[in-house]
Amino acid sequence: MPAAPQRYVPSHIAGHAGTLTPRQREWVGRVAELGPAWSARAARYDRDASFPFENFDDLRRAGLLGLCVPQASGGLGADFLTYSMVGAEMGRWCGTTALCFNMHVCACLWSGAIADGLDMSPAQRADHERIRALHYARIVSQGQLFAQPFSEGGAAAAGSAPWSTVARKVEGGYLVSGRKIFVSLAGAADWYGVLCTLERPGREGRGTRQDALYLALPAKAPGVTVHGDWDPLGMRGTVSRNVSFQDVFVADEARLLPEGLYFQAASRFPHMFGTLAPAYMGIAQAAYDFTVQYLRGEIPGMPPARRRMYPTKQHAVAEMRVKLEATRALFLQNARDARLDPDADTRMRLYAAHYTVMENANDLCRLALRTCGGQSMLKTLPLERLYRDSRCGSLMLPWTAELCIDHLGRECLYEASEEDEALED
Ligand SMILES: Cc1cc2nc3c(=O)[nH]c(=O)nc-3n(C[C@H](O)[C@H](O)[C@H](O)COP(=O)(O)OP(=O)(O)OC[C@H]3O[C@@H](n4cnc5c(N)ncnc54)[C@H](O)[C@@H]3O)c2cc1C
Repeated sequence: MPAAPQRYVPSHIAGHAGTLTPRQREWVGRVAELGPAWSARAARYDRDASFPFENFDDLRRAGLLGLCVPQASGGLGADFLTYSMVGAEMGRWCGTTALCFNMHVCACLWSGAIADGLDMSPAQRADHERIRALHYARIVSQGQLFAQPFSEGGAAAAGSAPWSTVARKVEGGYLVSGRKIFVSLAGAADWYGVLCTLERPGREGRGTRQDALYLALPAKAPGVTVHGDWDPLGMRGTVSRNVSFQDVFVADEARLLPEGLYFQAASRFPHMFGTLAPAYMGIAQAAYDFTVQYLRGEIPGMPPARRRMYPTKQHAVAEMRVKLEATRALFLQNARDARLDPDADTRMRLYAAHYTVMENANDLCRLALRTCGGQSMLKTLPLERLYRDSRCGSLMLPWTAELCIDHLGRECLYEASEEDEALED
């Protein structure tokens, strides 16, 4: 009797599922259940450059908006590693949703698990506990969403200058003014988690990077405006338009971190910026999955034309698998390494891993297009969208591919305290 036809079974996003904790398996599994509906909607969000509201409704219903909210505040209490796996599974089905979810997660992880390890006075700690409980209740009880306006078009988002967006201390709170660019979830989020510089009364000139302040501004507050068009190459559903803040008043309870703590977090927990990578790890997996299904003639809606018997296709898919596994290994190792005060080697592996995920995601999509061939780039199939979405990863600050290489090159050759003496003649 001929064997029953078998279909390709995609691998688990985190490699061997048996190595995961039951909670990690469960949450990745919840996303996998939502995934097929997200895949079906992805072309529409991409075509219309519209925000994936339905996908976020799904996440809300699945209880995943509170993934990285501490358990004491009603969330699931996922750490960086667990978020990385769940975020990558999201990216496998919809890159846009995963990238937006990363922005929301920043507000939870930075004020949550990361803040727990930072130095604070007892009074700061008590105040932070009180305030973050208010933010978390909005997420857990009301299903609200946070965006992450960081970029301003200058050196601040690259980590080498203070934010131009400023917060002035006034009675009972702050007045915030400035302009952010590329704000994913613009017009869709309930809150903007804004990075700004706290002005110190009586001090001349702009503040320093140490004066960075992280505030939650209500999207509907007077003085908040979303503006500019949004018709980009990829990640079109993120709707990353500009957002301006003109003398926006927020109360002291807007703080997502106590004054002065953002700089400590960025200096001592550099993995906090690595939350961008999972979306692209997921895209890399999706490009590989598509290629295998395509060559096996298993793409729904397409004639079952098989191309797997050609040695060149087999070699190409093997090359893709090697790249995918190398990317996944570095991605997971890096997520496991995330910690306070990483040593120099861990920090360098972080840059290497971030660079690898972002560059390899795009390269795997390139290989997938070349291997599958002409029909695979038609808009009726997802591959050309994966290719465009994957292009965005290595442009994202603070760690563009260039800046990863910059930091890595410097840190490979210099100890922290070393400076060059005069150049030799
Ligand atoms: C799909 C998508 C979604 C995004 N969503 C968000 C979001 O939600 N929130 C957010 O804050 N940002 C977001 N971004 C923005 C992203 O993180 C970058 O800030 C943005 O792509 C930078 O664009 P730019 O043209 O200003 O870059 P660049 O001009 O390349 O960089 C801006 C500045 O950074 C410095 N810089 C850049 N490269 C170097 C270098 N090699 N060496 C030294 N300095 C350097 C320079 O001062 C430069 O002027 C998103 C981007 C994309 C593509």
